[in-house]
Amino acid sequence: MGIHHITAFVSDVQENVDFYTGVLGLRLVKKTINYDVPDVYHLYFGNEKGSPGTVMTFFPQEDAQWGTIGGGQVGVTVFAVPPRSLLYWRDRLSKYGIQTMENTRFGEEYIRFTDNSGLLIDLVERIEGRPSGWTDGGVPIPYAIKGFGGAMLFSASANKTQSVLEDVLGLTPFGEEEGLRRFKASGDVGNWIDISTSNIPRGEMGAGTVHHIAWRAKDEQEQQQWREVIELYGMHPTNVIDRQYFKAVYFREPGGILFEIATDAPGFDVDEPEALLGTSLKLPEEFEPQREQIEKQLKPFEVRSIEN
Ligand code: ZN
Repeated sequence: MGIHHITAFVSDVQENVDFYTGVLGLRLVKKTINYDVPDVYHLYFGNEKGSPGTVMTFFPQEDAQWGTIGGGQVGVTVFAVPPRSLLYWRDRLSKYGIQTMENTRFGEEYIRFTDNSGLLIDLVERIEGRPSGWTDGGVPIPYAIKGFGGAMLFSASANKTQSVLEDVLGLTPFGEEEGLRRFKASGDVGNWIDISTSNIPRGEMGAGTVHHIAWRAKDEQEQQQWREVIELYGMHPTNVIDRQYFKAVYFREPGGILFEIATDAPGFDVDEPEALLGTSLKLPEEFEPQREQIEKQLKPFEVRSIEN
């Protein structure tokens, strides 16, 4: 159906929270840790409930090595805003001292900027997709980000990645222009995927780069079927991993990008009510005995107004 979530490495945690809640107006829907590196936060930002297709997640680490954006990564993360709101966003971003650049592709107007860690972000107006029921930072609801509009993939082996998108993931080719090929997924959010038609030299993982992109599976049964298709195609999916809020299977596609297949269920209200999402540090059962120690290693932050 399209993108489930996108996960990136960033630097300072408070800057990350200020940017995605204070400037972009997303909701912090989950505050947990990187299960593989428990002294690092894992923060999830999305619409009011963190619906699949709206959630950008981060591993903030102040002392992290900086990465470089390049082949084998999601190059640009695209958020969808309601029709006739791009002017509002251009003004808002400029008010926060964020430089924007305009570009047009496939007949759509985009504004491009970077977050505090250098991640490339695009905003595009879309009619499709449910309006968000949440905004932070004083963004009026009619202008609120709906979720992902899609993503631009930077592949080190463009033909092979395109084949995975079309033949394995079942995306529909939509067209080609100026060195980009566009694919469409069946969902109404996170559904337009652009990929450069030429190979892009490899980037380097680190702060300011996307770690992986997750695609939606309806349920665990469908995820299992995806797993089999991925294997049939000669790629090597991991076993199913429990990520508390969804089940995950990872595989690296031949263009170098780490893909994940994530289930829609159970969602972010599985361990706290919707009204309280993101307000306290959530740990999976097995980490609870070490809570005190874990909390001590994490730098405190707050969701705060940064109106200026
Ligand atoms: Zn993921």
